[in-house]
Amino acid sequence: MLGAIEAGGTKFICAVGDEQGNIINRIQFPTTVPEETIPKVINFFNQYHLKAMGIGSFGPVDVNRESPTYGNITSTPKPGWRDFNFLETMKEAFPVPIGFNTDVNAAALGEATLGVAKGLDSCLYITVGTGIGAGAVVHGKLLQGLSHPEMGHIFVRRHEHDAYAGKCPYHHDCLEGLAAGPAIEGRWGEKGIQLVDRPEVWELEGYYLAQALYHYILILSPKKIILGGGVMHQQQVFTAIYKYLPEFVNGYVSLPELTGYIVRPGLGDLAGITGSLLLGKQALEKVSHE
Ligand code: ADP
Ligand code: ZN
Repeated sequence: MLGAIEAGGTKFICAVGDEQGNIINRIQFPTTVPEETIPKVINFFNQYHLKAMGIGSFGPVDVNRESPTYGNITSTPKPGWRDFNFLETMKEAFPVPIGFNTDVNAAALGEATLGVAKGLDSCLYITVGTGIGAGAVVHGKLLQGLSHPEMGHIFVRRHEHDAYAGKCPYHHDCLEGLAAGPAIEGRWGEKGIQLVDRPEVWELEGYYLAQALYHYILILSPKKIILGGGVMHQQQVFTAIYKYLPEFVNGYVSLPELTGYIVRPGLGDLAGITGSLLLGKQALEKVSHE
């Protein structure tokens, strides 16, 4: 049995499953503070005999194995979680191989292994929810450099009619500051779900996301782009992206047919937790090779 944690800023999902990525049991609870949330995690996994575990966490996180703070959540504004030594805490409770990465990298791995990007050696997974984040598989591996990518915080050109200041605590009007769920609510005064009948909301959303995809395509040239997260439940956003992206590209690079290229997660809401399970599998394989 393998264990998996998808640690989100709003909720934690814990699951056990097999090495093929099948989830056997799963629970979720709200993310509060570590002192309250982590004991629930440990309680759940104590019911099982785990061989390995995978963690996909909200971040930023330290994913550099050489770093003394490897496995920590780093500069999150979320109260109680800043500098939390997540990996170390789990290792103390469960002394098994543990894979650790970002939630979106885990989701990208899940989609590349078992979802819509199965069989492809590259894909990009983007979540548009409380925040915006992206994970990438490149040459069959999760993309990592100095640290993990932070594609949600790129700068985009502001729409000429958009006067909203932006909501990112670090950069104000970066992509996340202009286009994540809380930015939609901040700009229009209501939550996304209440704005379904306001086409201008989703048009502007697509305008910003298409710019981001334009950059990601030029830089990474992914073979598939997967868009998940609460905001992407609005089909209207996909429609706006399909309209704006070709305008921005303007024939410079040739794109595949967009409705098959920019898609929803094949694993639906299970992309992240399935990917976390696969991170556990990778951790197990790594120790057995050493
Ligand atoms: P999280 O990012 O915390 O894991 P979600 O992906 O569900 O969670 O994102 C939550 C954000 O998405 C909130 O800002 C919420 O208002 C927005 N959202 C959730 N569902 C929808 C929907 N069906 N339509 C538009 N916006 C939504
Ligand atoms: Zn930002």
